[in-house]
Amino acid sequence: MNGSSLQDFSSGDVHVLDDGRSINDFIDDQIKMLQSEDSEEQFLVADLQSVIDHHQQWLTLLPRVKPFYAVKCNNTPAVLRVLRALSTGFDCASKAEIQMVLNLGVSPDDIIFAHTTKPMSHIRFAAAHRVQTMTFDSEEELRKISLCHPKARLVLRIAVDDSDSLLRLSSKFGARLGLVEKLLGLAVDRDLTVIGVSFHVGSGCTASQTFHRAIADARQVFDIASVLGVQMSLLDIGGGFSGRDKCQVKFEEFSDVINAALDKFFPPDCGVQIIAEPGRFYVESAFTLAVNVIAKKNCEESGPGGQMVYYINDGVYGSLSCIVNDPAHPPVQLLPHRAVGVGEVRYRSVVWGPTCDSYDKVLDSAMMPELQVGDWLLVHHMGAYTVSLSTDFNGFERAKIFPVVTEETRRLLELRHTSA
Ligand code: PLP
Repeated sequence: MNGSSLQDFSSGDVHVLDDGRSINDFIDDQIKMLQSEDSEEQFLVADLQSVIDHHQQWLTLLPRVKPFYAVKCNNTPAVLRVLRALSTGFDCASKAEIQMVLNLGVSPDDIIFAHTTKPMSHIRFAAAHRVQTMTFDSEEELRKISLCHPKARLVLRIAVDDSDSLLRLSSKFGARLGLVEKLLGLAVDRDLTVIGVSFHVGSGCTASQTFHRAIADARQVFDIASVLGVQMSLLDIGGGFSGRDKCQVKFEEFSDVINAALDKFFPPDCGVQIIAEPGRFYVESAFTLAVNVIAKKNCEESGPGGQMVYYINDGVYGSLSCIVNDPAHPPVQLLPHRAVGVGEVRYRSVVWGPTCDSYDKVLDSAMMPELQVGDWLLVHHMGAYTVSLSTDFNGFERAKIFPVVTEETRRLLELRHTSA
């Protein structure tokens, strides 16, 4: 067991809330501290308890499905360490993600290399580090894998109906059902081992029945494989779930549909292990961004009909990249950190990010109370596809991340980590 600060919860970057302090108290204190230092640096607070709560919800509602967290969604080391302590697996998309997870002491058996179009050097890296399970969806990928990692345990990704998802993936990844027999035949010819089927219904899925249809499709693939003499033992149902309490389709509804479809097409005694690759579900609600108003322009006309123009110190090239890159991210809401009176006048407000680029627009026309330079704003639900996509364009630094946990939870995590 490696006891470095990256590995445990008692030192390093995790902040422990003591004396009953809450996340909001932590944010208030952080803002006060920055003000006392004449700094306005934006920051993110990561509520690790939220990650744990979502894992608990997963175990309760999808007891047959082992989650392999999609690292691409948010690779904050403290989040990965919590998930490791909770014994999830990890879905990695590249050599660097595999390395990051291995550095935490995760077993290669708990990693799926879930990218169907991999550079050959990344396949060789997986082989050298005993990461055996990886996806494919084409003849060419089979050729590459047979050269670089002939002992790999292959998972055939199929394209499924993703028309009800906000971010569709099947146009880029996944073999059509009509191609399955040929691909499996080629794998057999090359002496490669295909152990299962995966799919991803698209991120931000808005129709639970999509999972029923996709699981039925996967059953067809298992049956085709069986005729070819390939006995499959793994089904990977991908990701696609929102991590918010208030969302179009609740996780409970998804899990009802998934459990019923699994019981119908892959009953518990069928010997097939079921896994998934959730990203958004685990981290979306855990992160809160605090940004500062760094500039303001006069309103065109005063009074309630006027328009305000603000500039804040994070934007679409930073943590708020989700505005342009993530169609599954609901519209961003900026909430003043100060108390706002019920009767306070709201103005139509345009909010820009800090860079010298007019593409960097955060809000186009939001109704907000008047803000002053130096005011702080909070943005909730900032954990999914935010920090992993942010840049330091124009020299504006990425937001610092403060992972936060209660003393009680820290002790529990420490215990789980030591026994993991
Ligand atoms: N697995 C794969 C292969 C993906 O491409 C993605 C997202 O793009 C995920 C898992 C995670 O999906 P989500 O964050 O919607 O759960």
